[in-house]
This record gives sequence, C-alpha cells and structure tokens, in this order.
Amino acid sequence: MQFVVGQQLREPVGSVTHYEMGESKPLPQGEDSLSELTGSVDLMRTDKGILVSVALHCTITGRCSRCQIEISYPLTLTFQEEYLPTADASTGESLPLPTDPDVFLIDSHQVLDLTEAVRQYRLTTAPMQPLCKPDCLGLCPHCGYDLNQGPCSCSAQETDARWAALAELAANIDQEQES
Ligand SMILES: [Zn+2]
Ligand SMILES: [Zn+2]
Repeated sequence: MQFVVGQQLREPVGSVTHYEMGESKPLPQGEDSLSELTGSVDLMRTDKGILVSVALHCTITGRCSRCQIEISYPLTLTFQEEYLPTADASTGESLPLPTDPDVFLIDSHQVLDLTEAVRQYRLTTAPMQPLCKPDCLGLCPHCGYDLNQGPCSCSAQETDARWAALAELAANIDQEQES
C-alpha cells in the first residue's frame, strides 16, 4: 500500500487527496491473510509532512484459538499517522531525519508506504485469541478430538471412572451399614 506523494508535498498546507481503496490495490507484502480490503485513505498536507487518515475494512483469515479450524472475520482499521519527508519535494535534497525513531517516514523517492502502520494497527486491533464461535468447546487436551463434534472417547472413560468411584463408595456404605 504505497502512495507517491511528491505532488501532495508541493501543495499548500491543508490540501487533501482522497483515495478509495478497492481489492485492486495490492495488499501489503506478507499480509496474505488479509483480504477484501476496502475503505478510504486521505492524505492531508501538514506543515511538517503528510497526515494520513485511514479507514479500512478487511477480512482476516486465521485459526480459532481453541479448535484450530480456519475462520474468517471482519476487521475495521481506523487510524491517523503523520508521515515526514526525508527529501525535499522540489529539489530532492535530503532533509535532516527526525530525532524520534518511531516516526513514520516518506522515503527519498517520495513514496509513502502504509504497510508498517497497517501491520501495527492490525496487531493492536485484531483479537489476540479469535474464536470460531463464542462458546467453542475446543479440542480434547488428551486425544485432540474436536469437542464441537461431540464428546470424545476420553470423556466417556472419565465418566466410567466417576461411576466406578461412585459404585465403590456405594458398596462401602452398604458394608458399613451391614457391620
Ligand atoms: Zn473453535
Ligand atoms: Zn479426548
């Protein structure tokens, strides 16, 4: 998700360029689990650089954190970040780098790349432990069976064990009553 902003940088402070995002816009590299990207990106010239306002809707494909089946869920990313130029838009001369290392930069070819910001905001916005459904039962810790499909044979054995213990208890009580 790159924008060439040499033109914007030569415009007066306050001017805005609006982009509508569609699927045709190439997805950020390495973000192949992010699809159906739509929304808008506004680039506003500020006195220092360009303020990017992003409102994107996308679909994330991942795995349920409990049962591991593949799931897709929608995600909305909205954020604003100011990008600072590293080269003068008119002369191409290098500009002094900002002292803050966390600031987003426009490269020397006036390319503003949203990939890293989208990655960061996606990490903070997407659920840490996505679920296929709120009450997903997950996998049996013993045999790995998907408990959404029904009980596994381990739980049947556990039930047998509990009954056996009860039966033993009952037998003991009977013995005590007899004595
Ligand atoms: Zn699940
Ligand atoms: Zn099991």
